[in-house]
Amino acid sequence: MRDVIIVGAGPAGLTAGLYAARARLDVVLFEKMSPGGQVLLTDIVENYPGFPDGISGFELMDRMKRQAEGFGLPIEMTEVVGFKFASENKTVITDRGDEQARAVILACGANPRKLGIPGEQLLTGKGVSYCATCDGPFYRDQVVAVVGGGDTAVEEALFLTKFAARVYLIHRRDRLRATKILQERVMANEKVQIIWDTIPLKILGENGVEAIELKNVKSSETRVLNVHGVFIFIGYEPNTQSVKGLLDLDEFGFIKTNAEMQTSVVGVFAAGDIRSKNLRQISTAIGEGATAAFAAEKYLESGA
Ligand code: NAP
Repeated sequence: MRDVIIVGAGPAGLTAGLYAARARLDVVLFEKMSPGGQVLLTDIVENYPGFPDGISGFELMDRMKRQAEGFGLPIEMTEVVGFKFASENKTVITDRGDEQARAVILACGANPRKLGIPGEQLLTGKGVSYCATCDGPFYRDQVVAVVGGGDTAVEEALFLTKFAARVYLIHRRDRLRATKILQERVMANEKVQIIWDTIPLKILGENGVEAIELKNVKSSETRVLNVHGVFIFIGYEPNTQSVKGLLDLDEFGFIKTNAEMQTSVVGVFAAGDIRSKNLRQISTAIGEGATAAFAAEKYLESGA
């Protein structure tokens, strides 16, 4: 029986691991893929304090991982498929069997939301992408569409201008949701053309993306835009399938916690993008990871 099991090796999980290891708790972190989480998909992180010239997402996460491991955090490549929280000792069900701990910290993050339109699934990996850092370089001198109006869509549209000849930013309203500084940059970029009040209806192509069918939501007019790639950045969905029915979730499926990151089950904590909150940033995730580890330590000390 361990003291703590942490699930997920993004910024929240790695920070919780760093603090738990330094508190000399018997801790393990389970991650099903490479450590780093969504940040690995980001080319340059420029709003994480301490890096005035920005830092690549990969390098930042590699540093966090090495720092946590340096203090003794074991990170195991293990997929967690379920939990049993009914008794005081928590069971984490993994692809390699059951593990038990007195406390659990959930830091499993979120995954890109899908549009759910014809052609999207069929052409994923063949021109439809959810990661500009991964796939942007394939579109040198080509024409791409980016769907969404938040920070991610705008940041990634700007990133894609490094390669693509033209980037259409397709947004369903007449105002962007993204932070003002990103709005200013995208409006000033000559390679980007914003298509307002428009939703995609269909992605067209057989072995690769050839075009996207669009509808103006105000005029109801439809048209077909020829593009070589479609990048979709319309928000994230929490990885909470395995805790549904076990913990209180908000209406969007994110985990509710108090200010100590305590969920509705005593001894189970949540941190990072998986939590119900307003601001999903690396800087908020790490604070929550530290808070969750500290709260778990206090919980264990209380003799629960
Ligand atoms: P987001 O802020 O939730 O924005 C999603 C965007 O997609 C919105 O513009 C939304 O339109 C649009 N959208 C949602 N569903 C849609 C659908 N079915 N069809 C068409 N459009 C749809 O998501 P995000 O941009 O991925 O950002 C997630 C979080 O990470 C945010 O808290 C953001 O601030 C943060 N983030 C921060 C940075 C940074 O600070 N540099 C970078 C990336 C992400 P509406 O505007 O009409 O709702």
